[in-house]
Amino acid sequence: MNLRKQIIITGIVQAVGFRPFVYNLAKKLNLKGFVSNYGSGVLIEAQGNKESMEIFLLLIKKNAPATAQIDKLKVKSLSLKKEISFTIKSSKKTSVQTSIPADIAVCKNCQKDISDKKNRRYQYPFTNCTDCGPRFTIIKKLPYDRAKTTMSHFKMCPACKSEFETPQDRRFHAQPNCCPVCGPKVSFIYKGKQAGGLKEAAQKIKQGKIIAIKSIGGFHLACSALNKKAVALLRKRKNRPHKPLALMFGDIKTIKQFCYLNQAEEALLKSPQAPAVMLKKRRHLPLISDGLETAAVMLPYTPLHKIIFDILGPSPLVMTSGNISGQPICVTNEEALKKLSPIADGFLLHNRDIHNRMDDSVLFELNGKTHFLRRARGYTPGYITLPSKINKPALALGGNLTNSFCLAKDDKLYLSQYIGDLDNSENIKYFKEALTQTSRLLNIKPQVFIRDAHPDYFAASYKPKAKKIQHHLAHALSVAAEHGIKEKHLAVTFDGTGLGMDNTIWGGEFFVIKNNTWQRAGSLKPVKIAGGEGASTDIWKCAVSYMLASETDIKTIKKTLKNIPSKDIDTAVKMYKNNINCYTYSGAGRLFDAAASILNICHKTTYSAQGAMELEAKAIKNTSKTYPFSLDIKNGFISTDSSPVIAGLIKDSKNPELAATKFHATLAAMIEAVCIQKNIKIITLSGGVFQNKKLLNMCFKRLLDKGFKVFTNNLIPTGDGGLAIGQLYAGYKSFV
Ligand code: ZN
Ligand code: ZN
Ligand code: FE
Repeated sequence: MNLRKQIIITGIVQAVGFRPFVYNLAKKLNLKGFVSNYGSGVLIEAQGNKESMEIFLLLIKKNAPATAQIDKLKVKSLSLKKEISFTIKSSKKTSVQTSIPADIAVCKNCQKDISDKKNRRYQYPFTNCTDCGPRFTIIKKLPYDRAKTTMSHFKMCPACKSEFETPQDRRFHAQPNCCPVCGPKVSFIYKGKQAGGLKEAAQKIKQGKIIAIKSIGGFHLACSALNKKAVALLRKRKNRPHKPLALMFGDIKTIKQFCYLNQAEEALLKSPQAPAVMLKKRRHLPLISDGLETAAVMLPYTPLHKIIFDILGPSPLVMTSGNISGQPICVTNEEALKKLSPIADGFLLHNRDIHNRMDDSVLFELNGKTHFLRRARGYTPGYITLPSKINKPALALGGNLTNSFCLAKDDKLYLSQYIGDLDNSENIKYFKEALTQTSRLLNIKPQVFIRDAHPDYFAASYKPKAKKIQHHLAHALSVAAEHGIKEKHLAVTFDGTGLGMDNTIWGGEFFVIKNNTWQRAGSLKPVKIAGGEGASTDIWKCAVSYMLASETDIKTIKKTLKNIPSKDIDTAVKMYKNNINCYTYSGAGRLFDAAASILNICHKTTYSAQGAMELEAKAIKNTSKTYPFSLDIKNGFISTDSSPVIAGLIKDSKNPELAATKFHATLAAMIEAVCIQKNIKIITLSGGVFQNKKLLNMCFKRLLDKGFKVFTNNLIPTGDGGLAIGQLYAGYKSFV
């Protein structure tokens, strides 16, 4: 018996190769009918026997293109029609497309095309198809048609046009479709002169030069990662002495020679999003990420990268953001030539414009789940769905460091790409540019605004009247938003500093959250830090302060901290004792800084969280031993006293690996102790400190062992890059 079904699918199903996928599936199952884009989704009418129909529905969900996201699939029975084939119907003019796909790494088939000498796209760096290629970064307006992208001025040649119009073709309706005849071209500028193309650029990299390469979302600065001189020069010119540099390898095999790689990490590297994945190093790579156990590693994700590696072989290249340190990544040829000239020897340019600026995404994998350090290319503009619709379109402005904002409409929260620190005019300009472009693209005109409570953040001057939400509460709520946690839970937020509700500075917080109420149930015991904001880079001042707070005598302090001049310590002690330039913090970040310095791992930082990251790298001993600590409970409020931990670190300071391991275990034990004391079944972990994989892992193990249900951020950064999601959620739940 034959059936006819109408199937409406919503989610990210347009411009991801969904219609050709449905078409081919229907053909295979001998179904009749059609598929077409419909509003923000896809409409299918299919007719055939019951069995085929069941398989059809099952496989639509199971085998959907990797970058598609099916939110809803509605099926309705229709009466039979006379039809002889299955077709792809062109979209109705009236349909409004709302979902925009993210950029997709070059697919296997396109890789084959560019490696095949007989293919007309042999070594063509802009090859793409419905399964891959640039998307968000080239879209200027919706609906997503070529005319509204930066490909509009390239006229398709007859061969490309035929592919574009043939439903069975891999390039059917692939908006950026092009070839060497009709598409964008590269050019190579060396020492201010035209100097050829890809081959010449690759040769210069081989010779140890630094080359700026235009990619999908912006420029990279590239050089051979095995050429110490080149890397040192890049660091010097970029004024970036220690901050780790991302690497790109030609293939998985070579990655395995340099790094440890598990199956889940390999799958992430090869995924259509192709993020940079933090991998444990197997071999030392000088100057890449000194002091750390890990390196950020990615695979070639555009045909252009692929061709460079075909020429040079699979050995790693440094692929760091093409920007002046602290500023946005360059996107136009002119901008790159102007700003990057002091850094790069040559420029590999092309004439496909980048409309939406986009950095690489960086994440690590733990127990099969992703943990974002930076969320941008491949993931933006993906969204998080709320359980119900919000009343009015809203904008949450995010934090001041590693900013991302969040736009929301109906039941969807769109987190922007990583913007950067809003402490300079260039990044603020980028913030405004991204906000204008994204709100236009998503057609969201916010009427409600939410920001951090800190009066000195950029957001406070930008939208002074916005609703305010406490920094760490926003971190906490970002987990509830992501996982749809409705039940009462205990939120552990271990973070850098943020303004608290009592005008002190918070950062190691325990909140009880129930419906739209919250209560600060505990914190790390506040400690006075001498040195003010300066202590965030001179982290030895945190060490001095923590040691003084735990009643360590000055002689011991001086003996413990190697290479800090005695008179500098005296000055810090004087400031501490006389309350000059002192602040009181309950921040977990400062405690990590103090520990890193007490163990003489790091006294001064040149990039954010350097102390904590180098401390984590030292925690390699196989022990679950902890230092003693105590919980002081007053009227139900728990404060954890770290004084005995500091004493333990001083005692073990000659054995930094053991001490660093015990320090991590102690913090996990401390969190566990508070959770047991509070006895709430669901725990969430959030805040920048949980970018520490070892601490996160230890917390999960301990809490799961004790029967807690534990959640953390998996789709958005747990640091300030995910803050805006929590702020928006606070607005949605009327926390503010
Ligand atoms: Zn492709
Ligand atoms: Zn063409
Ligand atoms: Fe934060």
